[in-house]
Amino acid sequence: MMLLDGKALSKKITQDLKIKTENIDPKPKMAVILVGDDYASKLYVKMKKRRAEKIGMICDVIRYDDITTAELISKINLLNKDDTVDGIMLQLPLPEGFDKEKILNSIDYTKDIDGLTATSLGLVAQGKPYFVPATSLAVIRLLDEYKVDIVGKDVVIIGASSLIGIPLGLLLRYRGGTVTLCHSRTQGLDEVARTADILISATGKPHLVNSEFVKKGAVVIDVGIEQDPETGAIVGDVDTGSIKDIASAVSPVPGGVGPLTIAMLLSNLMDAVTQDPL
Ligand code: NAD
Repeated sequence: MMLLDGKALSKKITQDLKIKTENIDPKPKMAVILVGDDYASKLYVKMKKRRAEKIGMICDVIRYDDITTAELISKINLLNKDDTVDGIMLQLPLPEGFDKEKILNSIDYTKDIDGLTATSLGLVAQGKPYFVPATSLAVIRLLDEYKVDIVGKDVVIIGASSLIGIPLGLLLRYRGGTVTLCHSRTQGLDEVARTADILISATGKPHLVNSEFVKKGAVVIDVGIEQDPETGAIVGDVDTGSIKDIASAVSPVPGGVGPLTIAMLLSNLMDAVTQDPL
């Protein structure tokens, strides 16, 4: 079974972005909005800032503890109008009580580097993407890197969130796959999963995908990032040990989709500088 190395690919993409950034002035700049005190969110924001700065891009973290939905939207409107800001992202999840969609939709689509506004997701649904959510982009980039053919293949995605499963399903459908989108109410999940040539799991349930879920020769992409309840280690949705003699390839956790996701966010930031508005 081959390991799909997202870490190596992420290094390659980051290196390319670094060279492009050296030739651009002013440097691409993103504003990351962080609300509240969530430990994992603070960690992710720190990682994004570190990676952006390593490339030579600018990442301003704007943190709020005490703010309302309306106030947050006016702050975003200021960033929309600020010509020195190329990309805006709202770190999720938000604390309880915020209107997530309303806030996301206030981000100007030309600065929506996370691809989560209604406009960006709508353009993906129309098959004319402008910004694609970084995790979906990471999965597609990994499949492309390893020349995994999508056309005519049966693709099963477990996990149907608007953040991952839904945009990814649309993108893979437009790339010629026959896509089945599963979720927590899907009946006979293992049986459906076993039909997949390409099986993608994004549920946040450690070790959900085992040998019962995988057809011989399938390519398995593990998007999950969670803590193993027993060991505390970072694991994904896939019990890699149990599928090693069945799958033809798997993306490991850590070292698969995770590191690539930040690289694709920064690639979106570069696009925010270089691509023309619609
Ligand atoms: P979410 O909670 O919004 O959605 C989870 C989806 O999985 C839902 O559609 C739910 O119905 C489905 N699901 C949950 N349990 C299931 C089960 N037992 N059987 C079938 N379906 C089930 O989560 P999300 O934000 O989409 O994130 C999913 C996972 O991806 C998490 O582990 C998260 O940490 C990870 N993630 C990874 C990256 C990355 O860069 N690799 C980025 C974002 C999120």
